[in-house]
Amino acid sequence: EAKGAGRGTHRFFDWDMSSRLQARRDMEAELRRALAGGEMELFYQPQLSMAGQVTGFEALLRWRDPRRGLVAPGEFIAVAEESGLILPLGEWVLRTACAEAASWPGGLHVAVNLSAVQFRGGDLHAVVTEALRLSGLPAGRLQLEITEAVALEASDQVVSTLQRFRALGVRIALDDFGTGYSSIAYLRKLPLDKIKIDRSFVRDLAESESAAAIVRAISTLGTTLGLTMNAEGVESAAQLERLRGLGCTEVQGVLFSPPRPRGEVPAMLRELSGAAAA
Ligand code: C2E
Ligand code: MG
Ligand code: MG
Ligand code: MG
Repeated sequence: EAKGAGRGTHRFFDWDMSSRLQARRDMEAELRRALAGGEMELFYQPQLSMAGQVTGFEALLRWRDPRRGLVAPGEFIAVAEESGLILPLGEWVLRTACAEAASWPGGLHVAVNLSAVQFRGGDLHAVVTEALRLSGLPAGRLQLEITEAVALEASDQVVSTLQRFRALGVRIALDDFGTGYSSIAYLRKLPLDKIKIDRSFVRDLAESESAAAIVRAISTLGTTLGLTMNAEGVESAAQLERLRGLGCTEVQGVLFSPPRPRGEVPAMLRELSGAAAA
């Protein structure tokens, strides 16, 4: 208890805390019900080569809440992580993404975001192999996107889990690169196939020489290490032009398409095939 605080402050603080706790418990219960009730859904956003070919799609979670409408993951992932609900939810995401991608044409990959919590609790390796087995999706068409929160641990257990995925043929991407701490060290420690340069760098490309210099340096480093270099959050043709000269090999962003429902994957492929080598 904050005894030093004035009475008014003290009471307000307690009220605020308990209402926030209550709101979190409510959200947790709602999420549990939403998962069981089939209100979760995956949207897909295309990832393209610099030549303009769609190489695959990133799966992005949406909650279709009857009351609130479509809810983005920023609103509920943290609660799912704190409550442990991310384990069944993450398993649902993996199974659904693999099952849906299995019906896509050609060798298109699906990229699935993982939470750091999934590496700690549960048996992530079993969850991934089971999702592949049930769907029949070849392991080479699954990519797992990890964040620096996973990299931050870079424990032997995390590294060995990632190595086992790669041994299956699953690819590993480091998401939001450049936003966390001591990022360069992870590039040696973690078994990676792809780096996704955070969209904050892409956003500033047109106006900022330093953003461009950083993208160029990261791309040179990643390419030298044999990694695919993805730039996410590409919104303008000017940004795409800059990225072309900076060594990126894969792009994604609303310039090409926002994330759309699974039923619109064929339409996205059709629309983007005409725009090849934009
Ligand atoms: P992320 O993995 O870095 O995904 C990229 C985010 O940028 C997505 O937001 C996407 O909709 C958005 N985006 C795409 N193109 C553009 C663009 O051109 N401009 C801008 N400003 N934004 C763009 P979204 O879908 O709201 O997801 C936010 C974050 O939530 C994701 O960031 C990821 O960290 C997390 N997330 C999404 N789905 C899952 C999931 O299934 N599991 C877990 N653990 N996390 C997820
Ligand atoms: Mg991602
Ligand atoms: Mg990202
Ligand atoms: Mg992110």
